[in-house]
Amino acid sequence: MTVIFISIHIEKSPVAFPLASAVLKTAVEKFTGLKDCRALLEEFFMPQKASDIADRLIKTGASFFGFSVYTWNASLVIETARVLKERMPDAVIFAGGPQVTAVPGEFRKTGLFSFIVEGEGEGIVPGRLLGSAAHESIEFDFSKSASPYAKVLSEKKYSGVLWEVSRGCPYNCAFCYESRGCASIRTISEQRLIEELKLFRKMEIEKIWVLDPTFNHNKKHAENVLQMILKYNPDAHYTFEIRAELMNETLCRLFSELDASLQIGLQSTDEQVLKSVNRSLDKVKFAQKCKLMSSWGLTYGIDLIYGLPFDSIDKFCESIDFAVSSGPNNIDIFPLAVLPGTELAEKADRYGLNNEGFPSYTITGNAGFPAGDLRKAEAITSACNSLYNKEQAFPWFETILKTLELPASALFERYDADSDYGADIIDFLAREFKKAGKEALFQLFESFILWSRTAEAAFANQGTAFQVSLCRKPEQLDELINTDPETFLARHPNDKMKKYQIIFDGEELYIY
Ligand code: SF4
Repeated sequence: MTVIFISIHIEKSPVAFPLASAVLKTAVEKFTGLKDCRALLEEFFMPQKASDIADRLIKTGASFFGFSVYTWNASLVIETARVLKERMPDAVIFAGGPQVTAVPGEFRKTGLFSFIVEGEGEGIVPGRLLGSAAHESIEFDFSKSASPYAKVLSEKKYSGVLWEVSRGCPYNCAFCYESRGCASIRTISEQRLIEELKLFRKMEIEKIWVLDPTFNHNKKHAENVLQMILKYNPDAHYTFEIRAELMNETLCRLFSELDASLQIGLQSTDEQVLKSVNRSLDKVKFAQKCKLMSSWGLTYGIDLIYGLPFDSIDKFCESIDFAVSSGPNNIDIFPLAVLPGTELAEKADRYGLNNEGFPSYTITGNAGFPAGDLRKAEAITSACNSLYNKEQAFPWFETILKTLELPASALFERYDADSDYGADIIDFLAREFKKAGKEALFQLFESFILWSRTAEAAFANQGTAFQVSLCRKPEQLDELINTDPETFLARHPNDKMKKYQIIFDGEELYIY
């Protein structure tokens, strides 16, 4: 028997690692009842034609096909299953994943799937493939499960992996699948984690996404894992999901010894909005911990969601202003998706949450956030991406806002409304300084932005020399991060424009 586990990734990127398929392949191959079963992985990337996917699957000669379903690929999975079923009526086609588990009926009623995997596939798929009386689940203990990486990494080269360190989340955010079904947190043995880290190092995996929904909810556990990483595989780049309020000096120090990015789910700053989705926020503590992370030079990003119950365009703007004031390297903003099976979906009518339905479930409006305001939020999001994220503006953004006496959301709105939208950001800011009657200060900020851009380019292109003309020495311009322009000018009166050459050798940034 040959079974194909199919992953359809959202796009080509190091994060496109077929973890669910790899986990099922391992479970099937370890299952004693399925000794003659060969499990193979097939991967595809959106957008792709269902008929092309089906053609490739049919060519494998297999007759068992299992799909990993996510919000972004659900329609394509159903379409592919339809084509497969037409061409191979006897094929056994099955599907699993968080969305399938949440709304199994939606998938069952298509009549395309021989069985639907509701819950963790390791305990269900081997028995179902065996058929007969084995239609029940087998006992599955996540903490003792076999590592899925060795075989998959030996069969194909990957530059990044999703590294599953624990399952379950102690929080219960109403919009999230994690809050349903696995409230208890289960971890993997230390020995297995160490072996996996050694394997990733041997296979030269460059990027590792740590799957642990709130990595630092248990500080001892977080410290242990970080120490393991530092000992067995310190050179890869790691991404962690953390909670800012739970950071401390020890964790900051350990993170700072790694090449790591931390992502923080803030979602909103409004008390009523947060309460409606079982969340809370201590703004003072959050800001203090962000300062602590900045003082350790950590790279961190903040996630926001707009369109939650009781949210409005004004509350969303306040959330953005607070996020910017927390000094993150990036701010990722998403419209709410009312995912089926979540607590929020069950209360959608009560909150007047309208959404696009299957498969994206993206919000189309709520009582306080009509469609027109959602479009405004989308435009602000896009401006934030251009002006803040792509420009890597975090070192200078706060000082510019203070100088222009504008909140971040207002500057994003102005950027969206700018007639020259999409042109160089320096030109847009020059116009804003002129409008504010502060054009005399702009040369200073222009040099600061050019210096930041050049340093970024040098870091990204090790060994390449970059030239830039600046009105002050780079180390003086850096003072603008914490200094208002008037104080800066008093400290560093006029200087001549001067050309600098900047080069990064992999360890130090050299300025000539
Ligand atoms: S959003 Fe994050 S913190 Fe909240 S339940 Fe989901 S995984 Fe846990």
